[in-house]
Amino acid sequence: MCTMGAARLFPKPPSSDQPRHPNGARDLPTSSANEREVFIQWDGTTRSKFHHIWLRDHCRCPRCFHSITKQRLINTFEIPSDLEPVSTRSTADGLQVVWSAPTEPHVSIYPWSWLRQNSYSTSEKPQPAEKVLWGSKIAKDPPSVSYGEVMSHDGLGLYRWLSKIDKFGFCFVSGLPATPEATEELSKRIGFIRETHYGKFWDFTADLARGDTAYTNIALPAHTDNTYFTDPCGVQLFHLLEHTDGTGGATLLVDGFYVASILRDLYPEAYSLLSTVSIDAHAAGEAGTLYRATHPLLEHDGFGNIKAVRWNNDDRSALRGVSYSDVPRLYEAMRTWNELITSQDSEYWVQLSPGTAVAIDNHRVLHGRSAFTGIRRMCGAYIGADEFHSRLAVLSEQFAEQAETKTTGTGERGVWSHEF
Ligand SMILES: [Zn+2]
Repeated sequence: MCTMGAARLFPKPPSSDQPRHPNGARDLPTSSANEREVFIQWDGTTRSKFHHIWLRDHCRCPRCFHSITKQRLINTFEIPSDLEPVSTRSTADGLQVVWSAPTEPHVSIYPWSWLRQNSYSTSEKPQPAEKVLWGSKIAKDPPSVSYGEVMSHDGLGLYRWLSKIDKFGFCFVSGLPATPEATEELSKRIGFIRETHYGKFWDFTADLARGDTAYTNIALPAHTDNTYFTDPCGVQLFHLLEHTDGTGGATLLVDGFYVASILRDLYPEAYSLLSTVSIDAHAAGEAGTLYRATHPLLEHDGFGNIKAVRWNNDDRSALRGVSYSDVPRLYEAMRTWNELITSQDSEYWVQLSPGTAVAIDNHRVLHGRSAFTGIRRMCGAYIGADEFHSRLAVLSEQFAEQAETKTTGTGERGVWSHEF
């Protein structure tokens, strides 16, 4: 299915090293402390250390952390910067630390799996979700779910859909009624529909109702949407409601992360330039709005992992703020990027039909379409990245294989969630 196989972009640290027999003392990690930090020996080879101030700040007892709102109650800045524990002890429930306090000692318990997950003394990177990079061969077996399962009440089908969007950057939904109402309902399963200058839920034809080439019948090269926003929409959903009296209008999808990985391997200088030089973009086709943003084509997280792709050559503004010597290099880098996203190896072409919607991670997958004739009616919506990630995180608490976030056993979110 995938040109590059199931590439893990990031190494996954061991998920949970909670002792298998929590009641057997011999299985517990050992703990000790000096005047600055607490040491935890997980096994023969792995250990972590935590500063006293960090541990005290992260106490989640009812006095230090609100069990309902999941907000910090302790005043961090009342903790003396040189505080030391009275004692530390390994217990079945976790690391017990007793702090001296003005009246009675304050006892903190930190679950082992939570400490392991939040260990910051080793060079382990945080654990991002697994991504599958793909090229044109994805056409053989593209990710897809059925409308019935996505709309079912238990949420499992929705979890499968959102997980696939997260993993592949897109996912089809088949068996959907070919109506705007059903499509809007489907969009709202992900989160609030994001209203923009194009409206809220769109239902459009090639009538140039809005000042954008999306509202014409010309071909659109692969691009991401909203490059002119500081926060481009996270997910967009398209549904072709009808196409009559004409041909063309095939949908194009390109995995921006896959192309970026090739660029990084083969053209490191271009990759570096496109990761650092900001490119201005604008939306100025509507009299009442003038959106502008400036960002590099490739964005990374604090660990150097790719986080987002922004590319719409049509919406690119005057190239300014780039040094004189960088201008020719930048044009060469953009030319190389363009060659890679338009290569046969990258392009996945698919003819959408009424009844099948597609949801696309707009921070990763580029989309486009071929020119068409006839009447083509499309509907769809934008959903914010935060809403998408929030919904997926909530469903993960319930359905993920290693749902370590459920700590109360009652289905309620515990205070020791690994998510915050
Ligand atoms: Zn406390």
